[in-house]
This record gives sequence, C-alpha cells and structure tokens, in this order.
Amino acid sequence: MFTSEHWGEFMIYNIDFDIAALFFLLALLFIFYYKKWIPNTQNKVFSAILWVSLFATITDILDAGMSSSSGLFPMDIHQIILYIYFLLIDALPILYVLYIFSLTGVEGKLFEGSRKYTFFGPIVMILFIILANFNTGWLFSYNSEIQNFDRNYAVAILNLIAFYYLMFGVKEIIKHRRVLGTEKSVALCLFVVFITLPIIIQMYMPHLFVTMFGVAICLFLIFMTIQGSEEIRSSTGLLNRNAFISCINIYNDKKEEYVIIAIRIRGYRYFKRVFGRTKMKKFLKEIGSSLDNYFENQNRAFYLGGGRFAVLLPSRYSSDYIIPDLQNIFNKEIDGEEMKINFASNFCIINCPSDVNDIDSLLQLIDKFDKHIDESKEITYASQIEMADSKRIDEIEKAVDRALLNDSFEVHFQPIYSLDKKNYHSAEALIRLHDEKLGSISPAEFIPIIERNGLIIQVGIIVLRKVCEFYLENKLNEKGIEFVEINLSVAQCMQKDFSEIMQKILREYDINPNWINFEITETVAAESPELLSKLMTTLHAKGFQFSLDDYGTGYSSMISLIELPFHIVKLDREVVAKLSNVKTQIAIGNTIDMLKKMKMYVVAEGVETQEQVRLLQDMGCDYIQGFYYSKPLSGQLFIEYIQKQMSVV
Ligand code: C2E
Ligand code: MG
Ligand code: MG
Repeated sequence: MFTSEHWGEFMIYNIDFDIAALFFLLALLFIFYYKKWIPNTQNKVFSAILWVSLFATITDILDAGMSSSSGLFPMDIHQIILYIYFLLIDALPILYVLYIFSLTGVEGKLFEGSRKYTFFGPIVMILFIILANFNTGWLFSYNSEIQNFDRNYAVAILNLIAFYYLMFGVKEIIKHRRVLGTEKSVALCLFVVFITLPIIIQMYMPHLFVTMFGVAICLFLIFMTIQGSEEIRSSTGLLNRNAFISCINIYNDKKEEYVIIAIRIRGYRYFKRVFGRTKMKKFLKEIGSSLDNYFENQNRAFYLGGGRFAVLLPSRYSSDYIIPDLQNIFNKEIDGEEMKINFASNFCIINCPSDVNDIDSLLQLIDKFDKHIDESKEITYASQIEMADSKRIDEIEKAVDRALLNDSFEVHFQPIYSLDKKNYHSAEALIRLHDEKLGSISPAEFIPIIERNGLIIQVGIIVLRKVCEFYLENKLNEKGIEFVEINLSVAQCMQKDFSEIMQKILREYDINPNWINFEITETVAAESPELLSKLMTTLHAKGFQFSLDDYGTGYSSMISLIELPFHIVKLDREVVAKLSNVKTQIAIGNTIDMLKKMKMYVVAEGVETQEQVRLLQDMGCDYIQGFYYSKPLSGQLFIEYIQKQMSVV
C-alpha cells in the first residue's frame, strides 16, 4: 500500500488488487505457454490479451507508485507511463471483440460492410483522445500544486467507448450463440460483468486499483472454459490430430507451401496387443519427446493416433536431410516379455499444395498411405500412392478382427504329388477366411492387409498351431505326408524372436521340425537378405527346411538361391501356365537342370493339365502341386482324399 500525504490530506492508493492481478496473469501466461498451443487467430488474440493485461497492470502499479511518491520521479516518465496505460487498457475491449470474432470463425468479416466503420471508427476516436492529450489535457493533466496528474472528463469518454466495444461483443455473442454453445457464450458475457463492475467501483473509489484484478478474473474464466476446452495434446505429449488440422488450415489460409512427412510404425496394432497399452504408450511417449527435442519444441510434430505421426515443415526445409534423423528416432528396439522387437517405420513425403491442397484430401492421403503402403519401401512419395478402395480395407481389417475373436480362421491343405514316388508326399497349408458379412476373402487379398497392420504375426502363429494339431491328430507321417509347407510373410521373418517362438510351439506339440517346411517368397528373400539369412540359418540348424516360393516372377533370385539354405524351389504358377510356349519350356527346362545340380528339389505350382504334368516330368521336375491333382481341401476332405489315393495304390 502506497501512501501519499498532501496538504494535510491523506491520499491512499491501494494496489493490493493490482499485485494479485499481476501474479494471476503471470500464472496464466505460464500455463498458457507451458500447455502447447497452435498459432491460430483465437490463440494469438488470447495471448495478446494476456500480454496487454500484464503490461497494463504493471503500468497501473507504476502509476500508483509514482503518484504516491510525488516529486520523486520525473514528471515526463510518469506521463509516458500514463499514456502507455491508457493505450493498453483501451486495447483490451477491442481485443475482446476480436477474440469473439475468432471464436465464431468470422474474423475476416470485420472488414466488410458497415462493420468497417462501427468497429474501426471508435478506435480512431480512442487514439485521437489519447494523443490529443499532449495539447488538450482532456484525459489527464499535470497539477503542479499537488505535483501529480489529475484525471479529467475524457476518462469517462474512454470508459464509454470501452463499454461500446463490450456491447459490440455481446451482440456478436447473441448472434452466434449456437456456434459458440451455451458454456462459451455465458463465459464471454460474464467477462462484461466482471470488467464493468470493477470499473464502476474504481470510478467511485479512485484509490482502489481493482480494474486489472477484474480483467485477470475474466481471463481466468475464459481460460478455464474456452481455452482449456480444446484438447490439443495427445498421450504422447505431442500435439494431436485436432491441432494438426488447425495448423494445416493456418498454412492453407495463408496459401503457404509446406511439406508433410507422414510416419507410421510398422505392425503397430500387433505390437500393441503383444506389449499391452501401457508399454506401447511409454514407447510412443519416448518417441514424442525425442521428436520435440529434435524440433526444439517448435510444435512441428503431431501424433495422429494408431501409431501414426506427422511432421509439418515450411517448404524451405528439405525432407532429405530430416528423414535420416527421423529414422533414427523411430527405428527403436523395445523389450517385450517374450521377445525383443526392432521397430521399423515407413515415411511418406507430401508436398502441399502440389500433392494435395485441402485438409480432407490430405487426411485421406495419409490414411491411404497407412493402408496401401508397400511395406518394403521405407520412403514413399505422395504421388506414388494409388487411391485404392480404403473402405474395403477397413472392412477386411474388421473381418480379420472378428475371425481372431471367434477363432474362425481355417487352414486348408493342398496335396503335393511326387512324380518319382507316385504318391502325395507333402501338402501346402493355405489359410481360409470366411466372414459372415463379406463371405470368403482370398488370402491374396487379406494377407497383404494384415502384413501392414501387423496382425500377420498372430495369424501366422494360429496357422502353425492348426497345422501342428492337424498333423498330430491325423498322424500324417503314417499317411506318407513327410512335411507340410507353411507360408511365411516378411513381417514374420522380421520378428526378432521368430525362431524361438516357432521352436516353442513345436515343442508344445512335440512335433519334429523336419515335418515343417517354411515357404518364403522371392520378394522377401530379395528385400532383407541379411536378416533372412540369419533367421534361416538358425532355423535350419534346428532342423526346419525351407522352400523358395513363387520362383520365376521376381528378381535377384540367383543370389537368394546361392546364399540361402533352400531345400525346395517352387516354380510359380504364372510361369507354369505358360508352359505351352517353347521359350518357357527352354527356360523351365534349364532352370530345373540348374536347380537339380544345386541339389535342390523342384515343385511346379498351379499345374492344371495332364500335358503340363507330362512336360514337367520330362524336364525332371520332382513334385507337382495344382488343380490337376487337387484343389486345396479342408482337413477332413484332405484326409479322405489321401486315404482314397493310398487305397488305389
Ligand atoms: P502361394 O503360396 O503361392 O499359394 C498357392 C496359391 O495357388 C494358392 O492360392 C492356391 O490355392 C493356388 N493354386 C494352387 N493350385 C492352383 C492351380 O492349379 N491353379 C490356380 N489358378 N491356382 C492354384 P491361395 O490359397 O488363394 O493363396 C494365395 C496366396 O496367399 C498364397 O500363394 C500365399 O502367398 C498366401 N497365403 C495363403 N495362406 C497363407 C498363410 O497361412 N500365411 C501366409 N503368410 N500367406 C499365405
Ligand atoms: Mg506358398
Ligand atoms: Mg506360390
């Protein structure tokens, strides 16, 4: 409390309220900046209101201090403080109106029609009154008798103009009450009450500086109801999808160029099941804070949910430099109870507005990237993404979830005929999905989808278990079936403890690894030769055998053949289908010769005619698989089929 004694009269300025307002505003500013905020108009205006209020409070305190110690401070400085105070305090109701406009989303309309005059006109008046005071002293003037400033009648005019703006705001609130909702509308109207009351009090008790305290209370109210209601932070600590959308809108409104790097964690859904929510959340949080550190807390990274992230950069940044750093952040190792997983991720570079120019298309593109991405490509450019039917993919994902829940996956078996022994000596296990809603879905369609979302690992384990059960129940080895071929996907091969899991399951059923042959396609072999080589060597040492599937359609087959311990090579059915062509005959004939010299066995897939069987037999092919002998059959039909053939022999 400052006191000032003058002419025997005792003038007391009570600035306790101002001090309280100061701390209040500092706390609000701290929370506002600590809590992430996106630079949209609403937040920018709110932060302006906070800063203006803070400095108005400071100048108010300084004014009180200088008034109570009259003579101690140069008059000029005191005068400047007063000018600043009036400019700031009169900016507040104007900012209040701007804030309402930013909330209703019609801020651009301020410059249209008669609003131009009704909104900007009084601003000119305010500036005129304040600046004219240099000559006129309408607002305040120096009273040499008391060595202090008298406040004059123009203060009342400024108060009236302030009230005008408050009413201007109230009118807008009423007009847009539906858009704003009751809670926001009430909070904004209360602002008027809380700000007018202290002004009236101060008019009657000029020594009681309570105006700024009223403002601080109002801001607190708005902060709690409006500013706090918009949740923009995700569980990772990064900004969320809503914030992402707002930021994109800001760039689009300004017609600025920018780059989005969309990132997805491979197999996220599966890992979430394996590790559980808590562990996954912790992992995502670590990624979140690494990203925040990397971008120096500039709010460039967002978490979009479902293991998907996005980075938003002004176009001056080159994604070529940033992607390797992002790869280091994302490709982490995580410890599970049963296994360690090396996370991998895919990146998609989207240049805006050249690739997409509105938020809906952008979100759609990110969704497509997530669902249609070629797993093997670490970096994809938006232009490479085909706009496939993402609805169908969603439906298939749901069908797979249902099948997992109801344990309704089935495994069928296609017999493989040995030309040499003239019997069925093995079979390929092929998964079948029959959904109540979608009907039968081909593995060629749903396997690539679950390879992307990671569920292939769980499905793969189901297939292995079903094959083991089938093998034991029907004593397949006694029926001449030496082994069952099981297809493996990239995602399965990339799983770090895959070999341990496989062995564990086989031990559970007491099944000899010799009875299982894993089929790996050429593309997998071509993509990750080192990883695959390690996995195959480990499993091979434990007695598992391998077949190279779909041979003849991919590339780099020679390297895979030479370096990896394949026991069998399966000629792709597309190649077999062209057997009537003489060139194909030469190619297949020589291929079989080569493979035999390399001490491998050859299976021809997709054999449908007797002619094909004859040609392949002449070429030295060992085994035949195809509709000519049998389609893939359910377990029971397969057993019946094999038994019938045995009795014929
Ligand atoms: P694949 O491993 O090359 O399997 C052979 C495919 O050829 C099977 O298709 C089979 O039904 C079909 N086929 C067999 N003989 C003939 C024939 O004479 N003519 C014709 N036109 N087709 C024939 P299916 O069952 O639709 O499986 C498609 C692909 O899905 C498989 O190709 C395999 O890559 C994948 N797949 C199937 N089951 C599994 C599984 O359990 N795990 C994994 N990872 N992939 C699987
Ligand atoms: Mg196969
Ligand atoms: Mg095949």
